[in-house]
Amino acid sequence: MMIYEYKLAGNQAQYAAIEEAIRVTQFIRNKAVRLWMDTRGINRNDLQCSCAQLAKDYGFAARLNSQARQAAADRAWAAISRFYDNCKQHTPGKKGYPRFQHDNRSVEYKTTGWRLEADGKHITFTDGCGIGRLRLIGNKGQRIEEYPVKLIKRVRIVRRADGYFVQFAVQAERHIEHLSTGKQIGIDLGLKEFLTTSEGETVANPRHLRTAEKRLKRLHRRLSRTQKNSKNRTKARKKLAKAHLKVQRQREDFARKTANALVTSSDFIAFENLKIRNLVRNRHLSKSISDAAWGRFRTWLTYYGQVHDIPVIAVEPAFTTQDCSACGHRVKKSLSVRTHMCSRCGLVMDRDHNAAVNILAKALVSCPERS
Ligand SMILES: [Zn+2]
Repeated sequence: MMIYEYKLAGNQAQYAAIEEAIRVTQFIRNKAVRLWMDTRGINRNDLQCSCAQLAKDYGFAARLNSQARQAAADRAWAAISRFYDNCKQHTPGKKGYPRFQHDNRSVEYKTTGWRLEADGKHITFTDGCGIGRLRLIGNKGQRIEEYPVKLIKRVRIVRRADGYFVQFAVQAERHIEHLSTGKQIGIDLGLKEFLTTSEGETVANPRHLRTAEKRLKRLHRRLSRTQKNSKNRTKARKKLAKAHLKVQRQREDFARKTANALVTSSDFIAFENLKIRNLVRNRHLSKSISDAAWGRFRTWLTYYGQVHDIPVIAVEPAFTTQDCSACGHRVKKSLSVRTHMCSRCGLVMDRDHNAAVNILAKALVSCPERS
């Protein structure tokens, strides 16, 4: 699935209609959760069927497209099955018992209830919610109209701090003819540099992440100084939400471009399988921001690897920073030691560079046809 996103332009009445559709989605989802709580042994199909009954009982629910109603019930089922999975796998900590949602910000249509115009500039929602015809504002080079409508499997309207957006999920096996470069690289992700490759090249942490971090901290402080339920508080909260959004977009852009450049220039990529979730639990904002960037980077790396049909392999990070990449001798070092110095073979190398070489070697071991 590929996601194409556009900003939506409409009038206040249309935005109000979108809000109503979002509310109905939440209502149906919560009703489905309630039904599951009250009835033993209920399954996904039962929840889907309950949508029809809701439409009979509540006029406002009937106005939402029937597939969109089912998508709302599916959200409940997603929460329920996640809970079941956590219980089955004995995941430590909370199991995530499904809860009622109060902050829903999206509504999802599937293949009906909307119509895209051939020029790719307008979309009309045709169900009873009355959203009507909206203009699409997209990035250059983004051309949803080039895909057969059949391949658009999902249309989701999302509310963000700076307006309403529509996402088209396109089922398309995108493929790019990969031009072989003969390069095989390992990647070490770090705090000092965003990444270091086994060839000794580095990609710096983008400056905008650090600027954004300062800005976010300032806005947080401003928000906490305002009084509850005051106009200023609402204003400050909106500002903060917009700033978060901006960071998110810059991070996404950086992650995607960096990943694309690496995949285009290599035939084989190995990276560390860091447990991002564990790293994010950190009080320092700067670290959590780069953690999030790593997460997105890895997702894009895997994605472009598939598009180019080259292997992108995650290896366990154990000892990759400690071991000598030349002779394998284990050289213990703390986080502050930036240089690897081997007491056995005398190798002197940047710490991250040494790690990247180890990561590549580890991945190659698991792919004997490559080494
Ligand atoms: Zn050595």
